[in-house]
Amino acid sequence: MSDSIRIMCPNLKCRALLSVPGAARGKSVKCRACGTRVRIPDPVAAPARTPAPQPDVDTADEVDQSEDGAAAA
Ligand SMILES: [Zn+2]
Repeated sequence: MSDSIRIMCPNLKCRALLSVPGAARGKSVKCRACGTRVRIPDPVAAPARTPAPQPDVDTADEVDQSEDGAAAA
């Protein structure tokens, strides 16, 4: 699978759209047009802000209705 990242050159005079391979995440590449070093953001290393809140709601529990019709006489 080719997961390429598209990133715009930070050089305001260039602003070339660069397409880098996913393997370049967290590294820096050189813009082909102007030679500016472009840092490829690494989504994996995203700062952990707030941990996902655990759903602590009491969900309506599904009651398993066991068949109880066998009433032996
Ligand atoms: Zn550039």
